[in-house]
Amino acid sequence: MITVSGVGEGTIAEQIGLVPGTELLSVDGRELEDFLDWEFLTAEDRFLLHARLPGGDEVEYDIERPAHEPIGLTLEPPRIRRCANRCDFCFVDGLPEGLREVLYIRDDDYRLSFRYGNFATLTNLKPRDTARIIEYRLSPLYVSVHATDPVVRRWLLRNPAAPDILEQLRAFAAHGIQFHTQVVMSPGVNDGAILEQTLSDLWTLGAPVLNVSIVPVGLTEFSQHDRCREPTASECAAAVALVHRWQPRALAERRRRWAYGADELYLRAGLPLPPAADYGDFEQVENGVGSVRWLQEQVAAAQTRFRAWEGKRIGVCTGTSMGALMPEVLEKLTAASGAQFELIVLENPLFGTRVTTAGLLPGRAFREALRARGDLDLALLPGEAVNDLGLFLDDLSIDALAATVPMPVVASKTFADALPEVTA
Ligand code: SF4
Repeated sequence: MITVSGVGEGTIAEQIGLVPGTELLSVDGRELEDFLDWEFLTAEDRFLLHARLPGGDEVEYDIERPAHEPIGLTLEPPRIRRCANRCDFCFVDGLPEGLREVLYIRDDDYRLSFRYGNFATLTNLKPRDTARIIEYRLSPLYVSVHATDPVVRRWLLRNPAAPDILEQLRAFAAHGIQFHTQVVMSPGVNDGAILEQTLSDLWTLGAPVLNVSIVPVGLTEFSQHDRCREPTASECAAAVALVHRWQPRALAERRRRWAYGADELYLRAGLPLPPAADYGDFEQVENGVGSVRWLQEQVAAAQTRFRAWEGKRIGVCTGTSMGALMPEVLEKLTAASGAQFELIVLENPLFGTRVTTAGLLPGRAFREALRARGDLDLALLPGEAVNDLGLFLDDLSIDALAATVPMPVVASKTFADALPEVTA
């Protein structure tokens, strides 16, 4: 059963009398569990919907719609699938107390993997989930592999019941499912020979494995430091070297570089980032793989629009990891716009200085840095630091922040996306 949370004006849903609070029970006799069922079972232009209205009446609707016209419903978000693992490096363990409850949920949900690119381990799949992935052809999936050796993987995930990931991927691949994969590298556990084996095994699965990224374990001051540690510069450099050994072969045989290191891996290794062309279609940019080069590409592509900023003084807030790389981006922006950019690099007062990612900066870090900066015309904040509701990790909203600082603030992911606000 799925509950309707909104009905669009003038839509089919409104015309037939569906209202918020209506429970959608089945389509063509098949029970509805979540948005996936709804989307796939209503893909045809004619179907029979069984629903329960808020008053309790159950109604059958024989719906026929013009080709591709949306029904016009918004559904309540699905109940998130909880994780069956207990990784030592889990980000949830690294959170301080007192944040909003939802942040402490360990989610591991193949549906969100398909829809939003969230990485899932596939360790909590029930037979029905497996059947749905195949039937609905949920592809590509984003999969946290970490290690293909089942013993090492179970140890990493702290889950003795974790199924063999190679078998799972092979079975899905036989039904046409493809995968973006990642290895979160925990030094002394899944790096070195285990990492080589993992890449080799994933390669052997063939074209369905679209790529593999290596992301170094990231810990906060609250993480379980007695159980895991972050990799050293030389351990990161070794992983980068492995990536670069794989890339020529992958390029020759599959016309894609296939193996990638996260930006953080290069930064920690003290190595320069590869050029933008080496990231292909930036398929794992949301996972921090090629983020800096991607941003530079966005800036270059939108250069002509930057004239709207001419003569302005703009503060660009970021975390300490991007702080080192941002001057290169800002140099191009300055040349394109005629604006004066000031880089404002912030340490993380919530997680401690070892957390360097801009996306994890709390609202109060920006507030403290900007509240006395009456000399700025605008401040750009990292777009990934706020959620869809405009909230930072510490629950401060961007509107509340804007009310306490003397300049307009805009959350921006590409600089170009901030232009409408600037020109308004
Ligand atoms: S898979 Fe591991 S890191 Fe991810 S939520 Fe579960 S315990 Fe945390």
